[in-house]
Amino acid sequence: MINFNIPPYTGKETEYIKKAIENHKICGDGIFTKKCSEWLERKFHITKALLTTSCTHATEMAAILLNIKEGDEVIMPSYTFVSTADAFVTRGAKVVFVDIRPDTMNLDETLIEEAITERTKVIVPVHYAGVSCEMDTIMQIAEKYNLAVVEDAAQAMMSTYKERALGTIGNFGCISFHETKNYSMGEGGAIFIRDANDIERAEIIREKGTNRSKFFRGQIDKYTWVNVGSSYLPSDMNAAYLYAQLEIAEEINQNRLNSWHLYYKLLTPLEKEGKITLPVIPDECKQNGHMFYIKTTNLEERMKLIEYLKKNEISAVFHYVPLHSSPAGKKYGRFYGEDIYTTKESERLLRLPMYYGITSEEIYRVTDCIMKFYK
Ligand SMILES: *Cc1c(COP(=O)(O)O)cnc(C)c1O
Repeated sequence: MINFNIPPYTGKETEYIKKAIENHKICGDGIFTKKCSEWLERKFHITKALLTTSCTHATEMAAILLNIKEGDEVIMPSYTFVSTADAFVTRGAKVVFVDIRPDTMNLDETLIEEAITERTKVIVPVHYAGVSCEMDTIMQIAEKYNLAVVEDAAQAMMSTYKERALGTIGNFGCISFHETKNYSMGEGGAIFIRDANDIERAEIIREKGTNRSKFFRGQIDKYTWVNVGSSYLPSDMNAAYLYAQLEIAEEINQNRLNSWHLYYKLLTPLEKEGKITLPVIPDECKQNGHMFYIKTTNLEERMKLIEYLKKNEISAVFHYVPLHSSPAGKKYGRFYGEDIYTTKESERLLRLPMYYGITSEEIYRVTDCIMKFYK
């Protein structure tokens, strides 16, 4: 069986988790948490990176930091994971879904401006498959209307837009370290904070509304409840798992990109015959090999292909059912304008097995099987 995903594992994780245990520091903000945050800040030139219990929680933190309240509107694509919307909806916001571009499956930047109302507070670009949204345009619109930008960079660790790391361009960037992502700690994530002014409040929100972070740094002699917050710190054991992969982040990235390019090369003939569509990477974007997807002609063909691959012991999966068509999406959101691509393109999309360490033989087996299907 060729799995769709295998969580990243470098071999050092067990040793590091053991170290965390021996340090008698298995709660949050121990040695490995610090190592991970510092690594992220250095690598991506970001003012502050805080590890969180998930990307969902990182996005929730961003919503609290932006004082999102009842009636505020947040613009995002409908083709995304539920967390993107949920994090704002739990603060009382309404979601305004905008159509995607068919080439990258990202928010269509040309449709954002007309979806803005006097209630709009935030734009949330989701960098699907680790390929950047058109960030210059999005940041210009945000500036013009005085809106915040929260990047859902859950899949985008190590990707760039015009040489800038994804997650570092908007006010806040949210990363996921779930086991399905390129770098993992089981469940976990990080929030990237661009402006130094936001750091102190972020630390408070993350520490149950207390100024405990300041206390641990010796800046105050006792800590107390100062604002709203929750508990968004991951255990240092999880951070230890993650740190092993950060140490070889470039190797993991290169390995995934090699697999991605092999898929692309082997499937190009099928695209030339007009049978499938391959992903598009705009010139200003460097991607991270998070995902390899193809697009079939339609939903029916995709379902048949999934079955065919399954019979051949290959696990391939589709992705999001657009949020605006879900029960909660209807209740908490509305679709602005026309759904030209969101539903249609999402029904065609099929993700192929992709993980750190997948072998060329396995990739050949997958592409041979797809070729046979189309014969
Ligand atoms: C994985 C993912 C999330 C959620 O990440 P968690 O760490 O599981 O909370 C959010 N948005 C996108 C686009 C994702 O792919």
